[in-house]
Amino acid sequence: MTDPVLEIRGLRVDYGLGDQAVRAVRDVDLTLHRGEVLGLAGESGSGKSTLAYGLTRLLPPPGVVSGGQVIYHPVDGPPVDVLSLTPAQLRRFRWAETSIVFQGAMNSLNPVHKVATQLLDVIRAHEPKSTPAARLARARELLRLVGIAADRLDSHPHQLSGGMRQRVMIAMALALEPQVVIMDEPTTALDVVMQRQILGQLAELRERLGFAVLFITHDLSLLVEFSDRIAIMYGGRIIEQAPAGQLYRDALHPYTEGLLHSFPALHGPRRELTGIPGSPPDLRAMPSGCAFHPRCPKAFDPCDETLPPLGPPGDGRPDRTVACWLHPVATPR
Ligand code: ATP
Ligand code: SF4
Repeated sequence: MTDPVLEIRGLRVDYGLGDQAVRAVRDVDLTLHRGEVLGLAGESGSGKSTLAYGLTRLLPPPGVVSGGQVIYHPVDGPPVDVLSLTPAQLRRFRWAETSIVFQGAMNSLNPVHKVATQLLDVIRAHEPKSTPAARLARARELLRLVGIAADRLDSHPHQLSGGMRQRVMIAMALALEPQVVIMDEPTTALDVVMQRQILGQLAELRERLGFAVLFITHDLSLLVEFSDRIAIMYGGRIIEQAPAGQLYRDALHPYTEGLLHSFPALHGPRRELTGIPGSPPDLRAMPSGCAFHPRCPKAFDPCDETLPPLGPPGDGRPDRTVACWLHPVATPR
């Protein structure tokens, strides 16, 4: 595995303060390595978006980061403590080092301005000394990178299809050549063919430009295809993490198994589609012990009493982690 580019350590995010606080992200440890695609999956409400907003410090009130660390490793220079950056440092960090494509981003293009204006604005804001000709050349190049003809710079957003608008947002996210791109459900609003086209293209761009991607979705089948590693979130915690192929072939956590049985098999023999009984936990009244125990078909004695720690399973698979009493960990993380 390559060096870490983003390390999240013990991150906690709450909505509200004091007794009324709802903890949506609980002690999350996650490492994104240089140039990899790390997929983050889980049902709606598991805390995926809150994690993305928390680590980029874009949480809207009443969200607050109540603990933990986010460390960014630039290509040159010392590590950066993201949670301590000043507002000015943060503005630069967000586009130049880490950029974000949020859910429904394609609808956030300003309808009254041409694509050119919006792309050029991003470039000018961060490279104020560049010449207009250089900025225009860069904008044309960015559109071409995402498979859109450069003459579309003169279009208004309503003249583009949903897929093209989402590609423009991806072009903007890549404008300053960030090391990390965070994508939160970037293709959910698009049809399946368009989703796969865009993700295939993103994979090519990643190969060429070398950025790492934190790819967030509730659609585990997409992650199996497009990620190097996958982390699964449940009730605000990471409950399993593994290389994508291993997770698909040999999930350890019963919740991951349930998610995998919620979509048809991509390869090999057909699999029964069973889904997961019950509903995600209410964050205001989390179940004791393992939060999944009320829904788990394999729950046994310790499960409703003691929280299983996350760590490499004791049977010698150091490149994966799991939090389940069926697979006691060698050294809890
Ligand atoms: P989705 O895929 O639906 O976006 P998610 O996994 O990204 O789901 P989050 O949107 O991060 O989940 O939400 C995590 C939890 O935080 C949810 O239970 C949600 O109810 C709660 N939550 C989110 N926003 C707020 C808010 N403004 N105030 C209180 N609770 C909130
Ligand atoms: Fe199921 Fe117990 Fe494992 Fe939780 S710890 S997933 S309840 S077996």
